[in-house]
Amino acid sequence: MVLKNEPLSKHSSFKIGGNADFFIEIPNEKALVICLENIAAERYMVLGSGSNVLFSDKGYKGVIIKLTREFRNVEVFQEKILVGAGAEVQHVLNIALKNSLVGLECVAGIPGTVGAAVYGNVGTKSEWIGALVENVEIYKNTKKERLNREQINFSYRKSSLEKCVIVRVEFLLKKDTKNDSLSKIYDSIHKRLQRQPLDMPSAGSIFKNPVGYSAGKLIEEVGLKGLHVGGAKISNKHGNFIVNTGQATSKDVLTLIDIVKEKINFKFNIALETEVKIINGK
Ligand SMILES: Cc1cc2nc3c(=O)[nH]c(=O)nc-3n(C[C@H](O)[C@H](O)[C@H](O)COP(=O)(O)OP(=O)(O)OC[C@H]3O[C@@H](n4cnc5c(N)ncnc54)[C@H](O)[C@@H]3O)c2cc1C
Repeated sequence: MVLKNEPLSKHSSFKIGGNADFFIEIPNEKALVICLENIAAERYMVLGSGSNVLFSDKGYKGVIIKLTREFRNVEVFQEKILVGAGAEVQHVLNIALKNSLVGLECVAGIPGTVGAAVYGNVGTKSEWIGALVENVEIYKNTKKERLNREQINFSYRKSSLEKCVIVRVEFLLKKDTKNDSLSKIYDSIHKRLQRQPLDMPSAGSIFKNPVGYSAGKLIEEVGLKGLHVGGAKISNKHGNFIVNTGQATSKDVLTLIDIVKEKINFKFNIALETEVKIINGK
């Protein structure tokens, strides 16, 4: 399905963003290849669930691709799970648990798709999804490649899978019938409910944690919790969350980001790096 002038606020957990020139839903690999061939000269990006992006108020000049249907398939082969990049991470975690496969607990409660999770190596402060990846199938332009785990670098909220479309991921988990996965998952979700402003639109943590520090605590220490610019506000509940109180624009959010960076740099001499992907507009 091809949509013209599609409002990106509908496709971002922040509920912010102008219109994309084109928004294409791709149901399978054949359609993906045709699409990639046709948009080779255009600017494009793959979008998962939009829970880690800040779109511009000016929208997106180019093509947004969303992987649907066959890209949401999940298959279990003993200790391995083969997953389409468009599947939701929480769905995969549920299937793993039903099959007594453990390892993915570090992603409990994290919104978004498998493709984005592997691209951004999501997880907690100490555990990442990248550690469970066995291999990844990608498209670089129209060329398909399969990369083994040795060929991919994973570090804190980063992978070497740049400038490609991830289409499928194989995870290697562990069979464990008397596991304590469920209690780990409940614990993680309980902490999220207590600490994060999940009742308001946001994109999760705005900044990466600098080595040895918590970005949220630093922001709290400089007294910026509760600060707002237009409709964007630094959450009173968690210093590293910026929430949309209703009518926030990306300009509001970017202004808050600049204020935080400047204050933290001035007070602690630390250069904060954004975790949210800031997508340039038209
Ligand atoms: C309330 C909340 C809590 C969160 N908690 C956490 C947390 O605890 N830990 C954590 O790590 N993150 C967390 N996040 C951030 C977010 O959930 C993750 O970054 C997630 O992986 C984003 O998935 P998505 O599908 O929404 O990606 P999107 O936001 O749609 O895209 C993110 C990036 O991935 C790229 N991408 C998407 N799909 C593909 C693909 N198939 N191939 C190549 N590139 C692709 C996009 O181009 C974009 O650059 C949180 C977010 C929210 C809103």
